[in-house]
Amino acid sequence: MKPLVIVWRVTGRCNLSCAFCAYDRTQNISRRHTDESLVRQFAELAASLSRPVLLSWLGGEPLLWPALTQLTRDLRQRHGFAISTTTNGTTLHREDVRQHLIEHYAELTISLDGPAPLHDALRGQSGLFKQIQHAVKQIAGRGPRLRINTVLMRHTIAHFPALCREVARWGIDEITCNQLGGIERPEFYPANRLLPEQVSTLSTQWPALHPRPAASPRPTTASTSAPSPPPRRSPTCRTSLPNAVSQPAPPLARTATAPKCAQSSSRSEKALP
Ligand code: SF4
Repeated sequence: MKPLVIVWRVTGRCNLSCAFCAYDRTQNISRRHTDESLVRQFAELAASLSRPVLLSWLGGEPLLWPALTQLTRDLRQRHGFAISTTTNGTTLHREDVRQHLIEHYAELTISLDGPAPLHDALRGQSGLFKQIQHAVKQIAGRGPRLRINTVLMRHTIAHFPALCREVARWGIDEITCNQLGGIERPEFYPANRLLPEQVSTLSTQWPALHPRPAASPRPTTASTSAPSPPPRRSPTCRTSLPNAVSQPAPPLARTATAPKCAQSSSRSEKALP
């Protein structure tokens, strides 16, 4: 039976300043955490439905919410829910955080938008790319299904194929991407939105990014061409780009309205308002 996917935005707080996002720490918006008791009540209701549940935490940056660790443990133990989250990776340098994710999470999505200088500049924190790289290598194969999600923009999309190959070598399981939307930060959008020709170019590159048999077990690449025994787990690529090709500008409403760190899973996308 397919799981019931519940996506819960647990906090409006974030410690990064991504210029394309409404939750940018420099923005003057509400930063409240969710009401923990509401989550617990809703979990009781979901558990009574007698079907598997995947509970996905979103933010802001969900791992900044102090209540999340114990809440996750409790819901796992009491209801057996599968837990997922999307993170900007800023707390993954901590061993206790990584261990908690390994023990309790079924899925972990980490935002990564391009090579190190670009990603760090876009997210407003130097060294973040390296930090994520180290953390992924520590977590890969030890627990949660690992996913990288990339927001494609005019100045980053050309790097996406190389980024896919890079993160595949780290041991991630899946790569997803979505194009920059213009609702949250309209001032950022015009100079950074994808151009139709860029979408078309990536679409032609797309087949080569899908997993192919690799010569050795992980770490491996998403586009290795040698037809040898398959890796233990091959990364897969998912995207909304085929739709974008047929409707290049403006981007799809769904991708335009969803927060950048909240759109990493196709299941999550469907669950978002
Ligand atoms: S994109 Fe993610 S990390 Fe960046 S400000 Fe928004 S919520 Fe924070």
